[in-house]
Amino acid sequence: MPPLLEMRNVKMYYGTSRGTVKAVDGISFRLERGEAVALVGESGSGKSSLAFTIIRLLPRNVAEVGGEILFYDDELGVVDLMKMPEDEIRRKIRWKKISMVFQASMNALNPILRVQDQMIEPLVLHLGLSKQEAVKIAEEALRSVGLARDVLMRYPFELSGGMKQRVVIAMAIMMRPRLVILDEPTSALDVITQANIMNLLKELKTKFDLSYILITHDIALASEIADKIGVMYAGKLVEVAPADVFFRKPKHPYSQKLLAAMPTLREEKTIEHIPGDVPSLINPPSGCRFHPRCPYVIKGKCEKEEPATKEVEGSLVACWLY
Ligand code: ATP
Ligand code: SF4
Ligand code: MG
Repeated sequence: MPPLLEMRNVKMYYGTSRGTVKAVDGISFRLERGEAVALVGESGSGKSSLAFTIIRLLPRNVAEVGGEILFYDDELGVVDLMKMPEDEIRRKIRWKKISMVFQASMNALNPILRVQDQMIEPLVLHLGLSKQEAVKIAEEALRSVGLARDVLMRYPFELSGGMKQRVVIAMAIMMRPRLVILDEPTSALDVITQANIMNLLKELKTKFDLSYILITHDIALASEIADKIGVMYAGKLVEVAPADVFFRKPKHPYSQKLLAAMPTLREEKTIEHIPGDVPSLINPPSGCRFHPRCPYVIKGKCEKEEPATKEVEGSLVACWLY
């Protein structure tokens, strides 16, 4: 079976007055059809930057992009999103094939524009649908996320946080994409609403045969839905593992630290703090980028040579210990 998405050595650097920020630096990764991968990693590790690179929504100050992002589609065949011109991405890919729920997007809804107008805007503007067709699609999408039709006529300020998040998710699925990228979809919500949204995402995944890239700080939440976990550190993907393997036996020292720093509801444990700071992506550490913080650093090797990614017991891991 071909995958849904295959990234090969993907890079995306920002240009700033202080230097080039290597936010995404040589990421290779395969996402299968119908699979949900959770991308985890500390703040500033490049998770959102990777998401923007996949959906090709890049800010003006991009200094360099490279690599291949192959998207395997029944209708379009195999296409390299990196090589697709923007107008084609807009007509054929965004919303229709790949959509995104942006970080903090529920708060980005325009408070003084009715839900209907916000939902139909991309359909009318970018996909050229008539208003009537667009309203019908919006209405159906709202139903799929458990919201009543009359929400269309409401303003975002009249909705609860959970309802707003449902609207944003409805927008992401309304054109029946194959892949939905969710950037911290529940971080602004209370615990019960978070659980409801996660259940909704699970339901939609099955119903519409979706694949997800779920970006989250909350590894416990990720464990609820993810088939695979991808760990990002300083612009690199350091481990990709099946979720059950990851939680039982994380292999990369950074993954181990991340899990140890994670609070759990089920068991009492001491939460460890990961010593040191996320490194600068302008001048990242040489060799393995984690070496200044790693308890297992191999002197003379880790700070000099970048570890290659190896397959270890079903996980992909970039570390000289393996
Ligand atoms: P968080 O968990 O806080 O959302 P993240 O993993 O999503 O973090 P990114 O937002 O992708 O991280 O940022 C990666 C790096 O790129 C950071 O060092 C950030 O400061 C930098 N960065 C992000 N956007 C820009 C930009 N437009 N211009 C320059 N640097 C940027
Ligand atoms: Fe630690 Fe070396 Fe592995 Fe990097 S390569 S995580 S420094 S042991
Ligand atoms: Mg982010």
